[in-house]
Amino acid sequence: MAGVSDGSSFKMPSIKFTKLFINGQFVHSLSGKEFETIDPRTGDVITKISEATKEDIDEAVKAARVAFNSGPWPRMPGAERARIMTKWAELIEENVEEIAALDAIDAGKLYHFLKGGEIPGTARTIRYYAGAADKIHGEVLKPGRELFAYTLMEPIGVVGLIIPWNFPSTMFVTKVAPALAAGCTVVLKPAEQTPLSSLFYAHLAKQAGIPDGVLNVVPGFGSIAGAAITSHMDIDKVSFTGSTDVGREVMRAAANSNLKPVSLELGGKSPIIIFDDADVDQAAQLALLGILFNKGEICVAGSRVFVQEGIYDEFEKKVVEKAKAWVVGDPFNPKVHQGPQVSKKQFEKILSYIEHGKREGATLLTGGKRVGDKGYYIEPTIFSNVKEDMLIVQDEIFGPVMVLKKFKTIEEAIKSANNTKYGLAAGIVTKSLDIANTVSRSIRAGIVWINCYFAFGDDIPYGGYKMSGFGRDCGLDSLYKFLQVKSVVTPIHNSPW
Ligand code: NAD
Repeated sequence: MAGVSDGSSFKMPSIKFTKLFINGQFVHSLSGKEFETIDPRTGDVITKISEATKEDIDEAVKAARVAFNSGPWPRMPGAERARIMTKWAELIEENVEEIAALDAIDAGKLYHFLKGGEIPGTARTIRYYAGAADKIHGEVLKPGRELFAYTLMEPIGVVGLIIPWNFPSTMFVTKVAPALAAGCTVVLKPAEQTPLSSLFYAHLAKQAGIPDGVLNVVPGFGSIAGAAITSHMDIDKVSFTGSTDVGREVMRAAANSNLKPVSLELGGKSPIIIFDDADVDQAAQLALLGILFNKGEICVAGSRVFVQEGIYDEFEKKVVEKAKAWVVGDPFNPKVHQGPQVSKKQFEKILSYIEHGKREGATLLTGGKRVGDKGYYIEPTIFSNVKEDMLIVQDEIFGPVMVLKKFKTIEEAIKSANNTKYGLAAGIVTKSLDIANTVSRSIRAGIVWINCYFAFGDDIPYGGYKMSGFGRDCGLDSLYKFLQVKSVVTPIHNSPW
């Protein structure tokens, strides 16, 4: 594969927002503490960010509580919330390049993908939920007795949103937009690795007219600011995306505090199953993208690839050829396919899994090493001859590492695909409708893609089975997570009850 390409001609915008956003203002943290956010292309410090600790979370929750209990946001007609959210989406569209640059430098994501895809997509997501804001209604019920009953769908209240670093922008809007459309008020903690774009979205939200206190953004560390959110007595719900281990902590903290409901979008080790009747070249391309998109730092990465024996050898040859032609380098260079891993920690974790795979006896077909001597770049890596109990087959590596395995029958493929504690996504490549139908119904995962992968949409819910979590992001399912049902009942005749 090509070495580190140079994107140094790109001129970075200045970083404008580095403080906490509480009650409509950018403010220093009460402790005065700051943390560094790092450019994964070099390991250099981009800037320092105010660090939220428990006291700052308390302030943010207070502001969100006042905005919820007595502010205009939950009380205004849905159409008015929609109008303001639509304005926010327009402002995002006017600032796409700047936001894209912030995520590229903070997370090592491809600038051209952010500019052309992910950031415009955030505006679409906001519009999707804005469109639902005036269509939230309950039902008229028909009880058997002489009663009139109906349900109200009420916003759940002050919500805590905790997001990871791999899609800082998409995660931000995927959580915030349905919560705001529902009429909730929000305290959001971005990942400590990638706070920059969240603060920029907060600034645009204020410009759009989202009232003070409705959206609060509090960068900080998980064990401090994150834990203060999950254990807070005055937060009504937490929606979390991150690792399965932290998901368990989140549930524990919720249970030990005010029993707030939680929804969890967690890790994955998703299978792609390729059958003998597939076009081998297309299947190899799909599988490669399935693992290398966003440098493998995506919860639904197709990290386990199962290929039927009739095409296995040809597939292996093609996928390795394609991996070798994949360009790793500076995410601002438009010729590059893969930027640096997000952080030194993530970089070292991936390389240590690769070493473990070699020690376990898997065959390293390509890759396995860092690229260049600066920053956190890793070669696309493919292992074959794996056994299902190997760590590289069971653990979520969250990097550009594919494991490849041969199978004979559909039953064997289904069994292998389900042989994981996770259940987030799966891919099937076949021309046979029978096979596609059988396998898609047999895989225990929240989303199954047939002859495609990463086909997401604002209206397509996704989320976990098993230890990949529960609750769904995207679609109206996500809106309903931020609403609760109240039943109102009255006798039809004014008779004493
Ligand atoms: P992480 O769990 O370490 O961190 C996620 C977020 O939780 C961060 O904001 C972090 O600061 C916070 N956090 C950490 N400890 C906490 C605690 N004790 N209490 C409250 N908050 C805490 O995960 P990560 O390394 O940032 O992200 C990678 C993981 O996220 C992977 O497992 C990946 O699969 C998962 N992920 C899942 C989805 C999905 O939709 N299912 C999407 C993206 C990422």
